[in-house]
Amino acid sequence: MAKWVYLFSEGNANMRELLGGKGANLAEMTSLGLPVPQGFTITTEACTQYYEDGREINEEIQAQINEHIEKMEEITGKKFGDSENPLLVSVRSGARASMPGMMDTILNLGLNETVVNVIAEKSGNPRWAWDCYRRFIQMYSDVVMEVGKKYFEELIDKMKAERGVTFDVELTAEDLKELASQFKAEYKEKIGKDFPDDPKEQLMGAVKAVFRSWDNPRANVYRRDNDIPYSWGTAVNVQSMAFGNMGDDCGTGVAFTRDPATGEKKLMGEFLINAQGEDVVAGVRTPMPIAKMEEEFPEAFAQFKEVCKTLENHYRDMQDMEFTVENKKLYMLQTRNGKRTAQAALKIACDLVDEGMRTEEEAVAMIDPRNLDTLLHPQFDAAELKAATPIGKGLGASPGAACGKIVFTADDAAEWAARGEKVVLVRLETSPEDITGMKSAQGILTVRGGMTSHAAVVARGMGTCCVSGCGDIAMDEENKKFTLAGKEFHEGDAISIDGTTGNIYDGIIPTVDATIAGEFGRIMAWADKYRTMKVRTNADTPADAKKARELGAEGIGLCRTEHMFFEEDRIAAFREMICADTVEEREAALEKILPYQQGDFEALYEALEGNPVTIRFLDPPLHEFVPTEEEDIKKLADAQGKSVEDIKTIIDGLHEFNPMMGHRGCRLAVTYPEIAKMQTKAVIRAAINVQKAHADWTVKPEIMIPLVGDVKELKYVKKVVVETADAEIAAAGSDLKYEVGTMIEIPRAALTADDIAKEADFFCFGTNDLTQMTYGFSRDDAGKFLDAYYDAKIFENDPFAKLDQTGVGKLMEMAIKLGKPVNPNLHIGICGEHGGDPSSVEFCNKIGLDYVSCSPFRVPIARLAAAQAAI
Ligand code: ADP
Ligand code: MG
Ligand code: MG
Repeated sequence: MAKWVYLFSEGNANMRELLGGKGANLAEMTSLGLPVPQGFTITTEACTQYYEDGREINEEIQAQINEHIEKMEEITGKKFGDSENPLLVSVRSGARASMPGMMDTILNLGLNETVVNVIAEKSGNPRWAWDCYRRFIQMYSDVVMEVGKKYFEELIDKMKAERGVTFDVELTAEDLKELASQFKAEYKEKIGKDFPDDPKEQLMGAVKAVFRSWDNPRANVYRRDNDIPYSWGTAVNVQSMAFGNMGDDCGTGVAFTRDPATGEKKLMGEFLINAQGEDVVAGVRTPMPIAKMEEEFPEAFAQFKEVCKTLENHYRDMQDMEFTVENKKLYMLQTRNGKRTAQAALKIACDLVDEGMRTEEEAVAMIDPRNLDTLLHPQFDAAELKAATPIGKGLGASPGAACGKIVFTADDAAEWAARGEKVVLVRLETSPEDITGMKSAQGILTVRGGMTSHAAVVARGMGTCCVSGCGDIAMDEENKKFTLAGKEFHEGDAISIDGTTGNIYDGIIPTVDATIAGEFGRIMAWADKYRTMKVRTNADTPADAKKARELGAEGIGLCRTEHMFFEEDRIAAFREMICADTVEEREAALEKILPYQQGDFEALYEALEGNPVTIRFLDPPLHEFVPTEEEDIKKLADAQGKSVEDIKTIIDGLHEFNPMMGHRGCRLAVTYPEIAKMQTKAVIRAAINVQKAHADWTVKPEIMIPLVGDVKELKYVKKVVVETADAEIAAAGSDLKYEVGTMIEIPRAALTADDIAKEADFFCFGTNDLTQMTYGFSRDDAGKFLDAYYDAKIFENDPFAKLDQTGVGKLMEMAIKLGKPVNPNLHIGICGEHGGDPSSVEFCNKIGLDYVSCSPFRVPIARLAAAQAAI
């Protein structure tokens, strides 16, 4: 028979998967001899079983729970529902990974009309007894029966108003007794049944409610944000009560062994006299700082400080603890490795190494790479942010904080910024034309688009804050206004957006600049020491490349050459190229483009100081670049000596029904080899020049052909590249070496990687397209249905943000297995958005990639994640 229930004395900290974090640590504290009210843990497996059994607790589990109640009665010498010495318990959730406040807790379970009178009399403290009872009814109704907190809070407020008091503690025993009966009446009215009196029935109901709370919407969102699988389930802890609400020699508190905001080594926390449970954090009364507890409860405080020391030494990490003092005696209710800001995480990890508690490897492993993001971008002032209420929420597409005046077009953004205004660009969605405006904006807010939409990708690349896909915005771009949360916003109105949480705020929330403290460097140096995989960057401009180098990039894994044409004077030449009728016309336009590209490439090689640079040839469908404004169309027509009508016809001709699967990637080079020729010339000439200037560097360009699905495509384009390149090299009398490789981003390329490897010097997984093509859904449209997929538990994550290891990952593994034996020198990387996602980086390390490449601001994250994967 499976064991579904464990006494605290039967478990330990290593059993977190089975007992949940809280249960495992309660067990560990018990075995350390710390004062823990005793009880038992119902396992996470029982939770999974509950869902398998159609949301019922089966008889076997029920029997074991009842058996353990009896054991608890023996241990505590108290009995459920007893008229002499009644047992009261708390019922607490506890998942493997801590999910603070996400699921529900019930206190004082076991009370009924009889028991409450018993404890009132025995304790000589009827106020306490009735306070417990009214709390219990309130929590049970809310959690188990989902009656809703607010009705009860209204009743409390009414009672306080009638009595003319401000605080709960000022209500008398009689008041609380009356509240309890009002609560029960409320319960009966809402549920249609009497409030349950039998403690065992109460317990089973509560356990069920905790299991059920694993699936509540709050918990589901939290799990998705924190990569916690739904399949884990939660454990339930049943623990005998310690009472912090028995009077003025009682209280309850929370504390950290180090400051969770700064990492400073000092006890931090709060304590509230004569209180229970969440009173401390609920803000009903103002708690005292933990240091003051020393004055009021010297003995319990001294004991608590000892406990802190014991726990920190034992867990070798900063602890976050919950405790209660009952009649001056300390009880420990919880400990866990405390959540902390990124800044604090770095300081604590370094301090623990310096204190001899942790090794460098362990310190590296302690930092959550995702948190580093926040260190690299401006942030909202924490206090101001706390005081603000969001008016809407989109996807936290690119981290950071932005506030400024609303503008609706990229041109306005550029113009306003030029005269010194801070602006937030609000658009339905962005397009390549908006780039300059996006750069001028503090932040970008879009109505449509997911994590890999144009706005999101570009913003992340630029390190600009972006909130994308806020569907609640009713946009009227034409009239430069939108409505959100019932308010109409106009050009020039102030708004703030948080690219980390996706929250949107009315008005200005002040920001502070990010600082990179010394510990950051120390941790990154350790990370570099222990990782084996290289980290490159996706950089399209010399400025991006420089930034990425500062952040530790060891090469460019992806330069999207089309991104070099977003600027005004360049786009004109580019458009001429696109709207050319004949090869001659196109070549004439390409002649104008060549110097721009060559100059950019030179700057990239310079910035990379001899480190590898991968340049991807033109990839997107050309119509993305054609002008849409009449004025621009006219300009283009004039430049080419064509009529506006002609240009419009050409533009219409470029229209595609499914552009992502249309005329793009290597298909462009197949139809217009002259484009590939020009790009090759630019790459090679630039490399030769930079090599000449820096004899001590090895400049070795890597030319990358996108969207190959068949080796013959690669062969065809490669021939153009090689002929052009070799001619250039010969003409210059140079001995420059270069490589030609391909993106693996079409499933067929992965499936036939052995063929492709014969022609390729390297593979680079373009996992944005590979995900899109493997799933067969568009990355620009997936945002529309992903929420439904989350709700239906079809997806737990956005596959464009977190690599689908099962499917897309299998294709990657297959490509490696097929490719390497054919071409042992083949080097392999990834340059999709996933290259900066920690769990995806771990996977890349596992399947043997040589490098990951990600946007500049993700480079430190990837370095750390790669180290963690290697350790
Ligand atoms: P969360 O996971 O949301 O922190 P907990 O299960 O820790 O929820 O419960 C919340 C609070 O309830 C605790 O911090 C503690 O103050 C109180 N509590 C829980 N169990 C007991 C108990 N056995 N005795 C006294 N207080 C308790
Ligand atoms: Mg807790
Ligand atoms: Mg691609």
